[in-house]
Formats: sequence, structure tokens, C-alpha cells
Amino acid sequence: MKEDKQKKLVVLGAAESGIGAALLGKQQGWEVFVSDGGTIKDKYRAELDAAGIDYEEKMHTEAKILDADCVVKSPGISDKVPMMKKIREAGIEVCSEIEFGYRYKADSKIIAITGTNGKTTTTSLTYHLLKEADYDVAMVGNIGYSFARQIATKPHQWYVMEVSSFQLDDIHWFKPDVAVLLNITPDHLDRYDYNFQNYINAKFRITENQTEREFFVVNYDDPNIQQYITTHFIQSNTIFFTMSEHNITNEGGFINDDKMNIRFNGEEMNMSIHDLSTKGKHNQYNSMAAGISAHIAGIRKEKIRESFSSFKGLEHRLEHVATVRGVEFINDSKATNVNSVWYALESMNKPTVLILGGQDKGNDYTGLIELVKEKVKAIVCMGLDNAPILNAFEGVVENIVDTKSIKDAVNAAYTMAEKDDVVLLAPACASFDLFKNYEDRGEQFKEAVRNL
Ligand code: ADP
Repeated sequence: MKEDKQKKLVVLGAAESGIGAALLGKQQGWEVFVSDGGTIKDKYRAELDAAGIDYEEKMHTEAKILDADCVVKSPGISDKVPMMKKIREAGIEVCSEIEFGYRYKADSKIIAITGTNGKTTTTSLTYHLLKEADYDVAMVGNIGYSFARQIATKPHQWYVMEVSSFQLDDIHWFKPDVAVLLNITPDHLDRYDYNFQNYINAKFRITENQTEREFFVVNYDDPNIQQYITTHFIQSNTIFFTMSEHNITNEGGFINDDKMNIRFNGEEMNMSIHDLSTKGKHNQYNSMAAGISAHIAGIRKEKIRESFSSFKGLEHRLEHVATVRGVEFINDSKATNVNSVWYALESMNKPTVLILGGQDKGNDYTGLIELVKEKVKAIVCMGLDNAPILNAFEGVVENIVDTKSIKDAVNAAYTMAEKDDVVLLAPACASFDLFKNYEDRGEQFKEAVRNL
């Protein structure tokens, strides 16, 4: 009989999310087949072997893949690749890994965090607030282990989840108890037919299955979010965070007189922004989002306040590296788009030598010009092709130098900086022209600074 037939799960892409989905699928009685067009890392291959899961690498066997009842695809795989087109044409259900995990999460609760910038910071901070309050909580998604793996191997009562727009592209029932939308600015447009609206719509899918019983924590001040909210019906219980108190009617977060305030459930919490361990306006937004989520999760305000101060900022995000002969060096290698560089510059309060560049994603730098005029005394371009930056800032900043390696960039920046200046690495670009990834770029920057 058809109903008794074991259902077939195909997992495309054998990295952290794919392996998590495969393990969960196997545990839940699916017949699992994993297919990866590249090479599978040894540690993941060993896991598949140990679990007795069938797999292939450096190839995709079409007949086996198209025989699936459900395909879980890695967020890295675009819908434009031929295999995905065939899967769609065959009408096979495609799930993202968070969707697949969601179906087996039982009564656990999810705080899901998305946005163009600040996901990792806000996810780590929210996790910290829950963990410090002794909640049974795991941090999942792009940081650490995948959601599906946690569900399969170490279930928890709470999940704080970093969610990318790619993970949201293939959800069907996924419904977080708290959804957080931090901001939306142009990024990854190559995956959205160069249509910004498609990317905005993808981000809003985080709330699409929510009802009035769930919470949607959103940035009121973001014009793209604002525009969407005023033209679409949102079912969930929407709670705003904003820089201005008069945008809040009843519940929400705002900044007033250098204080962060959170109103929820008839209570109000406030604390000085100087007591937050992460600096800059962007981190005030992140902190409000995390603080509201923690209130919704039921944590006492005294505990939340205390935990905010004990949070340690993350590496490669406005990370203080060293001060060399009065020149401070800051590593913001994770600033891979224009908006994050804007916030990095906004938080600088000393004359700044800015190291910018890498693999350009078709950036529009005009939004930076005003802040650059105000705060930047010199720009050091660091990339194989620096023409877009040279063009954008010619005549804006007097000193612009062209370099093609981290060592030359750091040396040039150090030469131009004077005592009490800051050298900020905030590239606005991807790192792949000169580095393995943004972590590698940040590490090499720190190493070059140490060698000065
Ligand atoms: P994501 O996981 O979304 O890439 P991260 O927390 O890793 O976000 O931060 C990425 C970059 O964006 C860093 O340079 C960081 O300083 C900056 N950033 C963090 N939060 C925000 C925010 N709310 N708005 C703009 N930029 C931010």
C-alpha cells in the first residue's frame, strides 16, 4: 500500500544544515539520500557513514533525486541551477532546513532573527540573555549547529535561530513564536533577480505563518520595513523598536536621553546605553530587539539588564584590535555591505583612516559620502580591482591609496594615521578576491597590526 511506503528525502548539499536535515530525516524514518556536487568534508562524511545514510559527492544522480518525496536544499544552492529547475518542474516539495526541523520541534519555542545586518550579533545576544536566565536554550542556524541537527541529537525547550533570507525562501509552515526583523538594505540581489522587492518579500516571510498569538519584533525606523508594513496586512502581534519614543504606542523599545527603554506587558525596563557592552547605534537597535525578545520569553527585567552588561561582543564586528603608538585599530571585517560600513563610521568618534574594498557586489557608495566627508581623513583601498572605490570617492577624500594586500593596506593606513586617530577595516565588500572568507581577512588584519 502506498501509505506504508517509506518516504524518500533527498538532501542537496552536505554541509552543516544538510547533514542536520539528513540525521533528523533518518531518525524520523525517512529513506535519506544526500547528494553534493562538490566534495563532502571528512567530518560530515564520517557522520553519514556512522548513521548509515546513503550519499554521493561530486555528482548529482538525477534519477535518484527526482524520485524524492521531499528535497531539503542547502541555503547556498540557487534556484537557478539546472537540478533545482528540474526538481521544481517535477513538482517535488522543496523545504529549507529550518522548515524540515520545524516539523519535528514538538512543543519547543523559537525566536527567529533575520535582517540584512546584525543577525549574528542579535542572535548571540538574545541567546546570552536566555542562557543567563537559566533557560534550556540552544543557538542555531548560521551560527554553530543547524536547527535540524539540534532537534535530532540534543533537543531544547528554546531555540534562538539566525535565519537568512535563503532559509526563508523554502518555508511552508515555519512559524516562530518570536520573529525579529532587524533591517532591510540591498544585499544578495544576485539571488533575487536583481529585484530589491523580491529580497524584501523574502525577509517578511519570517512572519507569514504567524497569528495574533505570536510576536513580530520589528525596526520601526527602517524605511523599507515601514513601507512594507503600511501596505501589507501583518497578522502577528507587532512590537516596534525605534530611536524615538513617540513611535511607540504601548509596547516596544526606544532610546531616550542615552537610555534604552523597553515596555512590555505593563512593565518598563531602562538602562543607560553606556552600560551596553556593544557600542554604536546599530547595536542599540540590536539590543532593543534582543531585550524585547527576552521580555516576551518571560525573563525578569533585572536579569536582562544584568546580562546586557556581561555580553561579550563578537570577533570581526567592530572589534578593538590594538592601539599602536596612539593609533587605534578596529576590525570590522564582517562589514561586507555599505549599510554596515555606514553604522561603523557612525560610531567612530576619532579621525578615521578607512580600509575599504574587496570583491565589489555592485555597491552604491553614495550613502557613505556624507559620513566619509565628516569622519574619514584617508581611504586605503584593498582589493584586486579598486576602480569602483576610487571612482566613488575621488574628490571626496583627499588621500586615497591603492593597495592589493593586507600588509600594504595596514602599512599605508598606519603611515597616514596620527596619534589619536583610528584605523578602521570595514570593507563593504566580499573578501574572496584576496582571502578565504571574512574571518580570514579579519585574522590577517589582526596579524598585520600585531607585526607593525
Ligand atoms: P549578520 O549576521 O546579519 O551578517 P553581524 O552581526 O555578523 O550580522 O554583523 C555584520 C556587520 O554589520 C558588522 O560589520 C556589524 O558591525 C554590522 N552590524 C551589526 N548590527 C547591525 C545593524 N543592526 N545595522 C547595521 N549594521 C549592523
